[in-house]
Amino acid sequence: MNDDQAPGFATRAIHHGYDPLDHEGALNPPIYLNSTYAFPDIAEGQRRFRGESPGFIYSRVGNPTASVLEARLASLEGGAAGLATASGMGAITSALWTLLAAGDTIVADQTLYGCTFGYLEHGLTRLGIKVRFADLTSPAELEAALDPHTRVVFFESPANPNMRLVDIAAVSAMARGHGALTIVDNTYCTPYLQRPLELGADLVVHSATKYLGGHGDLLAGAVVGSAELIQQIRFFGVKEMTGACISALDAYLVLRGLKTLELRMERHCDSAQSLAELLAGHPAVAQIWYPGLPSFPQGDLARRQMRRPGGMIALELRGGYAAGVRFMDALRLVTRAVSLGDCETLAQHPASMTHATYAPEERARHGISEGLVRLSVGLETCADLAADLRQALAGI
Ligand SMILES: *Cc1c(COP(=O)(O)O)cnc(C)c1O
Repeated sequence: MNDDQAPGFATRAIHHGYDPLDHEGALNPPIYLNSTYAFPDIAEGQRRFRGESPGFIYSRVGNPTASVLEARLASLEGGAAGLATASGMGAITSALWTLLAAGDTIVADQTLYGCTFGYLEHGLTRLGIKVRFADLTSPAELEAALDPHTRVVFFESPANPNMRLVDIAAVSAMARGHGALTIVDNTYCTPYLQRPLELGADLVVHSATKYLGGHGDLLAGAVVGSAELIQQIRFFGVKEMTGACISALDAYLVLRGLKTLELRMERHCDSAQSLAELLAGHPAVAQIWYPGLPSFPQGDLARRQMRRPGGMIALELRGGYAAGVRFMDALRLVTRAVSLGDCETLAQHPASMTHATYAPEERARHGISEGLVRLSVGLETCADLAADLRQALAGI
């Protein structure tokens, strides 16, 4: 990855886009609790409404605290502009509602975050937009899915829950050849581990609720890309379609989280690697997916597009559903909860939690087996996590 540009990642995560001396010396950006903003005169007001002047109008369209966050995220992802939103779903829906209209096609990977899948399958299809799911790890399947009406190709890498990787450079190039924009959900990696825009993607979306915020105390999202696309998504997608603007307080909290992003990601990766190695050798574990293990089927691609293998582990327990429930109930330190990217290590068993209402055959169709457990490795003392996982596995 290209990190030669000075200043470095952590420096930009702490300083980019904010100078205390412009704000009474305040080390941290002020939290602007404004809904509306005064205009010096009508001529300037008109420039702001036309998007020709950077001044503020109303906080659904822009807020000074959110602006610092947006500039900082754009810098970290290597994009020209950023837009902060109320949630990850707010980022995804605002971007797609801006780019797609009736008659268009979107091609999405077959493995997606559950609510993204729901929005595509049950939401966009109601508006006359054709949604085609394909296995984007296969160039032939992507080629077959693209048609002259395809405006957007959308995927996550690594994908939930089985950690499958999609080749960002290859898919972006193929989509561009067909006149389609590529959007990558980079929530699992953050720009510290992977930068899709540098690999040819057009837009990156995030759930900042996860690693970017990092402390489980907020919901937020972001979109990063060219100034033109971001302007469209801000003035149409957020302003008029979703209203999914971020609050100033949440923007501030994400900025606080970003300051330690590099440190946290390094520790998430260190601990996940060591726990993955422990789990890989355990007799109660039938299979494990972690990009840092030699058994991971896409190791070359992982090394090519990710700085390090990340903090998420998927494992399949021997003994199916019952083993999954026994393992989850035996955990003492690791917390039973959805979400990811927090300081706390979180475990989720899709068959009994997020996908409990599906029939087992439906779960299988979504790639969710009965004994599948997903771990978001946190920042606790790694030996304590190892001890907890060992005792929970022993109880199966
Ligand atoms: C959590 C998540 C989302 C949705 O984000 P919210 O902030 O919960 O709205 C989207 N994509 C991925 C990969 C996620 O993990």
